[in-house]
Amino acid sequence: MIKPDAVEAGHIGAILEKINASGFKIVAMKLTQLSQRDAETFYAVHKERPFFGELVEFMTRGPIVAAVLEKENAVEDFRTLIGATNPADAAEGTIRKMYAKSVGENAVHGSDSDENAEIESNFHFAGREQF
Ligand code: ATP
Ligand code: MG
Repeated sequence: MIKPDAVEAGHIGAILEKINASGFKIVAMKLTQLSQRDAETFYAVHKERPFFGELVEFMTRGPIVAAVLEKENAVEDFRTLIGATNPADAAEGTIRKMYAKSVGENAVHGSDSDENAEIESNFHFAGREQF
């Protein structure tokens, strides 16, 4: 996902450029907005964390871009491309270093395993109502 902060700031094009230049194939993509329930479901793993309310508020405040990407070793390579969760810790040239504002508003989401990538792809493209 390209998160609301990066969409608001007009970074969709630049981020997609970097994704393409890094060898990912975009196999599905849409601009959409998460409802409160969508965001709570998507980030359910973090529901006990102190920042959960803030995270849901942020993720629902404007449109996001949801995309499914294909590449050998995609999960690991995408997380390398986006950089650390906190942009202050992200390597030079990573998407979060270039476009993220803070640990909360950090421009992009990447799946953390092949299994979750499949679940998250279905969430966005097979219909959130099943979740
Ligand atoms: P994502 O899952 O969005 O790709 P991530 O895997 O790098 O990010 P997670 O630990 O899964 O990081 O956290 C999910 C999201 O929750 C972060 O991307 C960020 O938006 C938010 N978040 C994480 N830690 C904090 C924090 N300490 N304060 C505020 N928001 C946070
Ligand atoms: Mg995560």
